[in-house]
Amino acid sequence: MSTDGRTISVFGATGSVGASTLDLVRRADGAMRIDTLTANTSVNDLAALAREFDAHHVVIGDAASYGALKDALSNTGTTIAAGAEALCEAAQRPVDLVMAAIVGAAGLAPTIAAVRNQPLVALANKETLVCAGAFVIAEAARCRCLLIPVDSEHSALLQALGGPAFLENRDLSQVAELIITASGGPFLDLGAAELARVTPEQAVAHPTWSMGAKISVDSATLMNKALELIEAKHLFSVPAGRLRAVVHPQSIIHGLVRYRDGSVVAQMANPDMRAPIAFALGWPDRTPTPVKPLDLAEIGTLSFHEPDTERFPAMRLARQILESDGGAATICNAANEVAVAAFLDRRIGFADIVAIVERTVAELDGFAVPAPAGLEDAEALDTEARGVAARFAATDVSRIAG
Ligand code: NDP
Repeated sequence: MSTDGRTISVFGATGSVGASTLDLVRRADGAMRIDTLTANTSVNDLAALAREFDAHHVVIGDAASYGALKDALSNTGTTIAAGAEALCEAAQRPVDLVMAAIVGAAGLAPTIAAVRNQPLVALANKETLVCAGAFVIAEAARCRCLLIPVDSEHSALLQALGGPAFLENRDLSQVAELIITASGGPFLDLGAAELARVTPEQAVAHPTWSMGAKISVDSATLMNKALELIEAKHLFSVPAGRLRAVVHPQSIIHGLVRYRDGSVVAQMANPDMRAPIAFALGWPDRTPTPVKPLDLAEIGTLSFHEPDTERFPAMRLARQILESDGGAATICNAANEVAVAAFLDRRIGFADIVAIVERTVAELDGFAVPAPAGLEDAEALDTEARGVAARFAATDVSRIAG
């Protein structure tokens, strides 16, 4: 099947992944049709997109914004809804593909609703798999939903594993190791003292990728890589010992599969999210994109090194979480969202982010509590972890990071 005639809904349409997705839809010149678009508070942007793409339905997560959105779309045929429940209802509208690109655990319930009702879900919202990975993967299998990763690293792994053929049998018997790359973020070469002083403006200025604020900060702490390793564990059902991240500042190779005979298959592309998004939108076919063709001679050098777990403790925490089957991943994800928001608000320092996450996981005995068995479990643990992390963020956090 190509994208021709495909109807898609974009959750998180006003974000960075949403914009790249809609750029591809725009360029497809009518070959893909939009059913639903969603946002949280960006009323004007959502209304403009709904008009441009002639959306059938829009949902604004923030219920208080309903009136403003209704006014902005008053003379159109687009139906309008608001609130968290409306997001889940919209995820059940029959379409060919849902792009799940809400940021954070707010995407969990709508993504699960999509997984239960749609044939294809393009998954950008990695927090869904971090928060409730085992449950979501089981639901996808039960409901015969294909989950196609949008994260460039996981898209790369799926491509290096053989794409559609891999998803038919999910056979990893020939595979020795899955490796994802990390750009290392903007602070790759900073010492611990300098890291403690970095500002939100510096943290969101990523050297190779243009992304939303939360994932940009996650890239700077390497928490993004921690979340991605957990995401990969669930997506590919691979044991922790066969998963690794390597720092590769040029962001040209996104993922590698080392097979048991020593061969390594890597996927490369210039760092542009439209490549992995197109791979998901066109599944199982490849569709043309405006991604700059890769010229290795122009790039010249590709370099790689091990992540520094002393300066970037998120990588150490990732290893502990990967090796446990408890609720630590859910707690880590929630605490990280709270800590990143506090950092962006200038209430805590950069080094406090991962310190707060580690403290929250320890406080709630994250490696011993069971992993969530369903959506309600995941939401309850997420809420509890947010409360603990918020308390740490409000106390003398310099003591925590010290
Ligand atoms: P952005 O912050 O740019 O966009 C987030 C989107 O989610 C916006 O449309 C926002 O609406 C919406 N949103 C935020 N909070 C809520 C909420 N509580 N309820 C409903 N909708 C909400 O994020 P990105 O596009 O950067 O990232 C989206 C997801 O994709 C994340 O999970 C990220 O980790 C993942 N990802 C992103 C990549 C990238 O290049 N950006 C690469 C790989 C993965 P509003 O505009 O109204 O706030």
